[in-house]
Amino acid sequence: MRLFECGTLVPGCDWHTRANDDAEIVRRVVEHMRSAHGETVIRENMVDNIKARIRNEATAA
Ligand SMILES: [Zn+2]
Repeated sequence: MRLFECGTLVPGCDWHTRANDDAEIVRRVVEHMRSAHGETVIRENMVDNIKARIRNEATAA
């Protein structure tokens, strides 16, 4: 499972999302950026910033 925590990009925000693939995470994060942070224009470097912060979530064995 892949995990993105918005606080790594927007300090103080505790929103986070999990998905099986990065594309789904990016889609949800863009949606969150629009609705919660007023980012109406998602720049290319924003997507790169999101991807750079997606990490593997440790799964219990
Ligand atoms: Zn946020």
